[in-house]
Amino acid sequence: MILPAEYAARMKRLLGADYDRYVEALARPPVRGITVNTDKISADEFARNFGFPIKPSGFSDDCFILTADVKTGRSPFHHGGAAYVQEPGAMLPVIAADLRGDERVLDLCAAPGGKTVQAAKKAAFVLANDVDYGRARILAGNVERMGFGNVAVCSHYPDYLENAVTGFFDVVIVDAPCSGEGMFRKEPAALGGWSEQSVAGCAARQKEILVSADQMLREGGKLIYSTCTFSVEENEEAAAFLVNE
Ligand code: SAM
Repeated sequence: MILPAEYAARMKRLLGADYDRYVEALARPPVRGITVNTDKISADEFARNFGFPIKPSGFSDDCFILTADVKTGRSPFHHGGAAYVQEPGAMLPVIAADLRGDERVLDLCAAPGGKTVQAAKKAAFVLANDVDYGRARILAGNVERMGFGNVAVCSHYPDYLENAVTGFFDVVIVDAPCSGEGMFRKEPAALGGWSEQSVAGCAARQKEILVSADQMLREGGKLIYSTCTFSVEENEEAAAFLVNE
């Protein structure tokens, strides 16, 4: 994979001695995981019956890693809403939320729904929003397939939503739109859309989204912020911005 020179220089600055290992990792096949809908089937029963090679994720009992490059979309477990394919790294934000079952959760940038699916089985109620109406429909389709009765789906800009549900949620998940640097291994075509300007544009938008997210969080609630990118502007600096606000 040939990285744009500006991007490679950034990553060298960020990773130092680990840069070569990062480039090696880009040449390896992407890893996929499965999150199990434990409303439908226990994780043990799923592991015994799924029929595709999986191993425990090591970070959550209901998350597994696919150990072969197989298509699982035709599996009855997929169609019956018992399983959702998700990258292992993408599972971590909701695990970090450490949901206990009685929370009201807002998944603010939710489509296609990986984090909504994880949160729905562990929370009292989830409002799953995506500003893109077409993507919100896909999200609604996934919620329906999984059979969750405690999820509502909507499609609004965060600064509209913040006036409707101010201070309402115990947990707000912001899985922000980002420059997608972490997707290059899975989708090398995404490299073509990368630029310094796109990083700066994403960072500005993330700050706006975070300010709205904070408005919708109750006093003492938890805000979970994640991206699938490496840039400091979109991660550490976005978090520092909100804390300093
Ligand atoms: N959380 C999703 C999951 O786990 O399946 C992935 C979310 S994806 C990284 C980011 C989402 O943010 C996209 O679906 C995009 O439509 C949405 N988005 C883009 N701009 C937005 C904005 N201004 N406010 C809220 N969401 C936005």
